Amino acid sequence: MGYARVHSVALHGVAGEVIVVEADVAPGLPSLVVSGLPDAALSEARDRVRAAVQNSGAYWPQARITVNLLPAHMRKHGSGFDTAVAIAVLAAGAALPIGRLKGAVILGELGLDGTVRPVRGVLPAVLAASRAGKELALVPLANVTEARLVPDIEVRATDSLGRIIGFLHGSENLLDPVSEPAMETSITLDLADVLGQERGRRVIELAAAGRHHIAMFGPPGTGKTMLAARLPGVLPPLDDEESIEVTALHSIAGTLAPSGTLVRRAPLQAPHHTASVAALVGGGPGLAKPGAISLAHHGVLFLDECAEFASGVLDSLRQPLEQGQVRLRRAYGETVYPARTQLVMAANPCPCARPGGRQTCQCPSIVRRRYQARLSGPLMDRVDLQVDLDPVRSAALLGTEHVEPSAIIAKRVLEARGTAAARWGRSAKTNGDVPASMLRDGRFRLSKSVLHPLTVEMDRGRLSARGFERSVRVAWTIADLDGRERPEAADVREALELRSRSVR
Ligand SMILES: [Zn+2]
Repeated sequence: MGYARVHSVALHGVAGEVIVVEADVAPGLPSLVVSGLPDAALSEARDRVRAAVQNSGAYWPQARITVNLLPAHMRKHGSGFDTAVAIAVLAAGAALPIGRLKGAVILGELGLDGTVRPVRGVLPAVLAASRAGKELALVPLANVTEARLVPDIEVRATDSLGRIIGFLHGSENLLDPVSEPAMETSITLDLADVLGQERGRRVIELAAAGRHHIAMFGPPGTGKTMLAARLPGVLPPLDDEESIEVTALHSIAGTLAPSGTLVRRAPLQAPHHTASVAALVGGGPGLAKPGAISLAHHGVLFLDECAEFASGVLDSLRQPLEQGQVRLRRAYGETVYPARTQLVMAANPCPCARPGGRQTCQCPSIVRRRYQARLSGPLMDRVDLQVDLDPVRSAALLGTEHVEPSAIIAKRVLEARGTAAARWGRSAKTNGDVPASMLRDGRFRLSKSVLHPLTVEMDRGRLSARGFERSVRVAWTIADLDGRERPEAADVREALELRSRSVR
């Protein structure tokens, strides 16, 4: 009979908090009560933990056992506390010495046979432990590479509860597998592969430099998908903080590569048009899974065939795009995931999607208009670059034109971003994020003659006030890329020309 406490980590969104798992074993009818706001999975842990302990050959105290998770006000999800609960119970009721786990956090789900199974979110959990001054993280073997991405904390792994018990008795060792420092191996797609699509390449470069959302329209064969897939390759690499953030989100979603490398490149997510709201913005029971928009944090969310997405699904993206984060309402409160992503939408001009575009399409104009109307509205209001792409002529594919590789474009993008960040100061990092009020501010307002091409279009009723603002943002990006201090009339004209959609 006795009392013992060990530590684990609970996640709330991407934030982790070290929690205390305490067990009290008292004389009385054999029972196990778990308290501390457990969710359903944790209640189920009672039977799982008992079976795992017994199948590990350890003695399960025949007594009244109370397990409590602190702080009590914090909601704790999932099965990641199983192992900590088992150790606390054994220490309290079966005199298991836990001195060797001083300063440690214990993570892991238990199988009925006593195996310790991997859990989601180990990276943010170990990060929280390290920040809280913990010295050791004991994690499931399958999560060890990921856990080791966190600096300043020792990481040991286990494959079974029996091994931890053996370790505490001094008869067995924890696992310390040698993990090769794996390189990120994702293949970079190069913009040099996209031949004959000058306009498309220009749009990608501008989008990367200004962090503008893009919508590309054109019949199949215009290279929309090829272009979108190459946007991450010209975006600046993630810095250390961004890299940890993105990797943590993938860790919680359970989509981290087994090599367990830090995500260093801007991620690309391309959900199918049949995707649900939950798949896009996140959800699910227990510890909510981040959706595609969060997995594309600091990267690109590509919606191919975007006119085919259910309208409710597209609408669900609007708020996260504005706020840079997703707020998932849950039965017990809110889970917040970051979602600062760059949107790339692509669509055919009409439902028939014939390769020749307008020449071969036989859809009545009303059908075409209705199809495109699906893509108007509040979401499109956020999209700075909206362009029609023409089919690539076969001559361009045979030609020997010189096309710049992504590496050169990425360099220009990086410089342009630096210029923009220095100019906007604390207001915004990129032209795409700069508030409209800033564009109208005396210091940055463009002269009448420079804005002339836009005012003409507006007076003719062909450009909305929002379209006006978006063109000004793009004009700044054009100037930044060319190394000019301020946009000129020619930049504004190009920006306008890159909004070639008939519906502006
Ligand atoms: Zn058609």
